[in-house]
Amino acid sequence: MSTVKTALVIGGGIAGPVTAMALAKAGIEATIYESHPAAADGVGAWLSLAPNGLEALKIVEADKAVEAVSQAVPGVVMADGDGNTLSVFRGFPGLPASRAMPRAALFTAIAEHAAARGVRVEYGKRLVTAVENADGVTATFADGTTATADVLIGADGIRSTVRTLIDAGAPGPEYGGVLSFGGYSSGAGVTAEPGEMYFAFGRTFMGYWRLPDGRVCWFASLPSAAPLTSAEVAAVPAADWLARLRELYAGHVPGERLLAGTAPEDLMAVGPMERMPSVPRWHSQRMVLVGDSAHAPSSSSGQGASQAVESAVELARCLRDLPTPAAAFAAYERLRRPRVEMIGGNAVATNKAKAGRSGDRPAMPTPEQMFAPVHLHRIDWDETVTSAE
Ligand SMILES: Cc1cc2nc3c(=O)[nH]c(=O)nc-3n(C[C@H](O)[C@H](O)[C@H](O)COP(=O)(O)OP(=O)(O)OC[C@H]3O[C@@H](n4cnc5c(N)ncnc54)[C@H](O)[C@@H]3O)c2cc1C
Repeated sequence: MSTVKTALVIGGGIAGPVTAMALAKAGIEATIYESHPAAADGVGAWLSLAPNGLEALKIVEADKAVEAVSQAVPGVVMADGDGNTLSVFRGFPGLPASRAMPRAALFTAIAEHAAARGVRVEYGKRLVTAVENADGVTATFADGTTATADVLIGADGIRSTVRTLIDAGAPGPEYGGVLSFGGYSSGAGVTAEPGEMYFAFGRTFMGYWRLPDGRVCWFASLPSAAPLTSAEVAAVPAADWLARLRELYAGHVPGERLLAGTAPEDLMAVGPMERMPSVPRWHSQRMVLVGDSAHAPSSSSGQGASQAVESAVELARCLRDLPTPAAAFAAYERLRRPRVEMIGGNAVATNKAKAGRSGDRPAMPTPEQMFAPVHLHRIDWDETVTSAE
């Protein structure tokens, strides 16, 4: 039985509200402190939640709210960039379909669900420092205010402040050498069956699927030695980026046609593709990381949001069942680190396969091999966590 009764959750993105809801279910009172002055609606491009992420969301009963704002994409079709299908995967029997949605829709669905369950969010609170002792932890925000609780949870994303408070030498995000883009295409002349997510490899990679309104949504990347920031990418006219993408994807099937059917106003300039390298310290005495602050895989994993949700729920289980923050954080890291590092490592391998020329490209696993360990994972909320786990 835990001695932890209260928590400060830093960051009201995706991991923060799910952590707060799971903590409430575990009997721990949590308040979220978010640096933005208000809920940041409408920001971000598309992302997906995999069956494992949806199953974890079920624990805080947020799965239906997310399903309502997303599109089911159960199938995966791998192709070679010359128009040939390599493999077709229809999902594992009994699992929910993967869902695709704008990040903003996921954020709003989760934030509204959390608010309806009584989760408190204080906006305009940028954490700058924190002091911990044997009795608790006190956070100080940029506006000079403070807050104290038994534990502090860093759900503050890939550029986490909490990570550096836990370990001043912690690594920061790693640039993947490419800039990410997305877009909406008329899809003229492109085969894309509803409910299938297509991954077309080849000289360069493009992913795409058909939207309910008939258009095709795609995502792609452009090699760039310079690690431009999102703001720097946004400052370049969309028509210029589109021209560079069209040059890169000339001859790619169906990249060339998808880009021909995309207008500059329908281009989404996402920014640099980043991932977190292994973070040596996930916790201190009373502070712990959850979500992208601890483990942001490359976006090619399709698991960033799903892993954030899994970690949020597992952290709450550990804090519920173990007597001290130290015991809970150690059990949480033991449960989560091998899994998130496996998924992060697989994404690095996929990126190499995307980048390689056909001759030197490493052999890709089958979709079943790739997805089984990721999608079939289940968290048993009712099972008690023991420190020996
Ligand atoms: C604006 C935005 C747009 C995104 N768009 C995409 C996308 O298009 N595709 C995709 O795959 N992923 C996107 N992501 C990342 C995606 O949300 C995460 O990979 C994943 O969902 C894990 O979420 P998280 O809660 O750990 O981190 P995040 O969703 O990044 O949330 C972190 C939150 O912490 C807040 N925060 C940061 N520092 C502090 C501080 N010092 N004090 C208080 N609060 C702080 C941030 O404002 C943010 O709300 C986006 C993230 C953000 C913030």
